Amino acid sequence: MGLDRTDRDFDGETKFVSPFTFTAWNGTHLIDTGELAEAHEKSMDILNNGTVDFYARMEDNYNLSGNSSFSEMEGFLSYGDLEKWVNLESRQYYTDLGVHLELQDMAMSPLHNMVDFQGMESHVFSTYIAQSIGIGKGQVVGGNMKLVEKLVEASSTEVFLNSTVTTVERLSNGFSVVYQRENEQREMYADYVVIAAPLEATDINFQKFDPPVRQPARDWHAAYIYVVAAEGYKREYFTKDSSRNVPGFVLGVPGRANGLRYITSKSVRNFTYYTVRATRNFTDDIKDMFINPSVRYEQHWAFGHPVFEPHLAGGATYQDVVLSPGLYNLGVMNDVMSQMEGSIIAARNAALSVRIHALQRRDGSSDVDYFTWSPNIGLLIVLFSTVSFLYILKNLN
Ligand SMILES: Cc1cc2nc3c(=O)[nH]c(=O)nc-3n(C[C@H](O)[C@H](O)[C@H](O)COP(=O)(O)OP(=O)(O)OC[C@H]3O[C@@H](n4cnc5c(N)ncnc54)[C@H](O)[C@@H]3O)c2cc1C
Repeated sequence: MGLDRTDRDFDGETKFVSPFTFTAWNGTHLIDTGELAEAHEKSMDILNNGTVDFYARMEDNYNLSGNSSFSEMEGFLSYGDLEKWVNLESRQYYTDLGVHLELQDMAMSPLHNMVDFQGMESHVFSTYIAQSIGIGKGQVVGGNMKLVEKLVEASSTEVFLNSTVTTVERLSNGFSVVYQRENEQREMYADYVVIAAPLEATDINFQKFDPPVRQPARDWHAAYIYVVAAEGYKREYFTKDSSRNVPGFVLGVPGRANGLRYITSKSVRNFTYYTVRATRNFTDDIKDMFINPSVRYEQHWAFGHPVFEPHLAGGATYQDVVLSPGLYNLGVMNDVMSQMEGSIIAARNAALSVRIHALQRRDGSSDVDYFTWSPNIGLLIVLFSTVSFLYILKNLN
């Protein structure tokens, strides 16, 4: 697609790269996680082996699933035997393996908190995703929005931004989709509808579905981000040790760092800009944390990442991938992995499902006779999953 990336495709054997090169903050002390990793060599060996095994299973999952689609989360997890990771609690699992508690709390947990706002109470799948952050890491040069722009371009489909879907109604031959755009209510008709946002965030009114569209509710961690210009840190906020400098990159230990997830910094001319990520409103703490701070930008997401409970806890069930024939829910993947890669897996699955259904309809082998295939797929929910879906659908042969 002509995107510049900072990573390189890697082949050969997958190697664990220790992600513990950062400073963690536990509310009173700054901790060098590189030193911790050195002190817990045996635990690091266990993490090494586990992460490489996890990676191999993910690869198996991709290879074994091939071009088949799944209609429920269990279907996705069955390829490569991934179920067990989402059903186990991280604390119990890593303790049983022999990973030292200090390494879990002061290194693994803040890393996990940085990646998707959780700690050792979460499921093992999400912890392995966080631990594997050092393997093949990279960025799209110019920012991830470039990726979205390129996908929109390559899909050659009309994409409406700033359009809020309010109602989806089942018709005898497809769907009516009502949406709000430029202060006007509009309607379009669609053969298929793909919801590419957490279902509970969309607030869509689903009408005339039998059975009705009702899905298990999930808990979410909110995200707060601030860009702050300041003359430096107030060291005493972070440590009483006057011999320690506070580095530009600090990760908060969940449950101990007042809701701080992490800070990164960049110097531009006479200013240092700090990006502060937190799990709650951090305006007051920013005043205590920096010398002469001025908040230049802030953003709040109510649906940052879902709470990753071990899935079988309390008899929980996943949301459905297929909410009703022809109506797909990509956000179900958030329960397992809440990264862009998860969105692509979900988008690809929906593209495959739509294609399989359309071919069955064309050949007369589908027993579901509720609409006719046309390339006019109604899609309004925007951004990454949607454009991935459109791009993948266009490129399926
Ligand atoms: C602070 C933060 C940092 C992150 N960093 C990373 C990272 O470094 N790497 C990574 O891989 N992942 C990261 N993630 C996760 C990543 O952002 C998500 O996995 C990804 O954005 C999901 O893409 P998506 O298209 O599926 O959903 P989203 O990006 O959530 O898009 C859903 C869209 O649907 C829209 N919408 C909601 N309701 C309606 C409606 N009724 N009608 C129309 N539109 C609607 C929303 O406005 C939104 O634009 C991060 C997440 C957060 C919160």
